[in-house]
Amino acid sequence: MHVVVAGGGIVGTAASYYLARRGIDVTVCEKSHVGAGSTGAGGGIRSQFSTPVNVELSRHSMEVWADFDEEFGVDVRERTNGYLFLARTDESADQLRRDVSLQREHGFPNEFLDPAEAAAHCPGLDASRYVGASYSPRDRFVSPTIALNALADASEAAGSTFEIGTEITDVLLEGTGPDRSVCGVETGDGRIECDYVVDAAGPWAGRILDMVSLRLPIEPRLRYQLLVRPGDAYEPDLPLTMDVDTGSVFYPEDDEVMIASAPQEQMPRVDPGHTNADPSTEWTIDVLEGLGEMADFFTDETRVQREISGVYAQTPDGNPILDEPLPGFVVAAGFSGHGFMHAPATGQLVAEMVDEGSPSLVDISSLSADRFADRSPDAERSFI
Ligand SMILES: Cc1cc2nc3c(=O)[nH]c(=O)nc-3n(C[C@H](O)[C@H](O)[C@H](O)COP(=O)(O)OP(=O)(O)OC[C@H]3O[C@@H](n4cnc5c(N)ncnc54)[C@H](O)[C@@H]3O)c2cc1C
Repeated sequence: MHVVVAGGGIVGTAASYYLARRGIDVTVCEKSHVGAGSTGAGGGIRSQFSTPVNVELSRHSMEVWADFDEEFGVDVRERTNGYLFLARTDESADQLRRDVSLQREHGFPNEFLDPAEAAAHCPGLDASRYVGASYSPRDRFVSPTIALNALADASEAAGSTFEIGTEITDVLLEGTGPDRSVCGVETGDGRIECDYVVDAAGPWAGRILDMVSLRLPIEPRLRYQLLVRPGDAYEPDLPLTMDVDTGSVFYPEDDEVMIASAPQEQMPRVDPGHTNADPSTEWTIDVLEGLGEMADFFTDETRVQREISGVYAQTPDGNPILDEPLPGFVVAAGFSGHGFMHAPATGQLVAEMVDEGSPSLVDISSLSADRFADRSPDAERSFI
């Protein structure tokens, strides 16, 4: 059996690693270079989700992240600062309480806290604005670039071939109608015969779908962030802290600068290769005002160092499509803001789908390709 993976980001690379470890012949086609897409934009790993499927994807992925350095022989620069979600209203606090209960059922030692307890994890927090919080002590940040390169090296060592600078221009099918199945890909460097194609092209996933005439709602959407220097000193090991009612969020890059963001009314649809950050002045002011309400180290002296942006592969419910909508064609895309952290479990699930015919690690029936047509999607509420 031969599998062609479209895309050398974290998802395609993880899939290739777990496929190769099963002795399957894998070729990763990457049109540019490993890590040319969204991977690298953020290395946050969290268990704080509101849907069972995401909590389970986190659980299985975090088993890999916990031993990543040993398994892959690198220092992935882990910082286990935790995530802290804050609620201003009783309704939001009740939701966080329910989410914590779900996360605890799946084995995470997460806690629902009162505002004073929340402030103990985030010195400087204006606890008076909040009525409750959820805290996940095992959630962490790692370097996405180091992780991706380590996985790519391990995948090659396990037998994968990486064709770098090789763009897939068409997916070849044999048969007609419902009997169509994958038989190869056309690339800028010629044809490759294969039994499976894995669409792991991140924000470009829709273009691969077009090649097999599938219309699935994965759109490239621009997500803005700011690099800010708070006006006052802060503890460098603060958790990622998010106000769930306003969507304002910050986390320390180091002891001088933080990454911060806020919701965007409508994330602009862009070309998937878009790299320019051009948020409006109003949005930037909204972010700074939101931060100022959260913690006292965001004084009037807080300064924006740089605007940064990246492209989300966005679906209507914020969850990926992980499915085989036609024989031999696996979609592993549409991860919005949580594809990096969920790549280890996703890679294992793709390997199961190809090798065993169906996934078993996690019940991913809610991530099916036909969920948008058949019923109203069960959206993830904890969206960053
Ligand atoms: C600002 C920002 C912050 C984020 N923060 C986090 C976070 O903290 N934690 C987290 O888990 N996730 C985060 N994410 C999301 C995460 O980055 C993505 O979900 C993840 O990187 C997606 O990986 P991927 O492999 O699917 O896609 P990508 O990394 O985009 O890789 C796709 C690859 O496919 C290649 N490709 C495309 N078309 C073709 C073709 N036709 N032929 C060959 N190759 C092709 C591209 O060149 C690219 O290298 C963040 C995203 C952004 C934008």
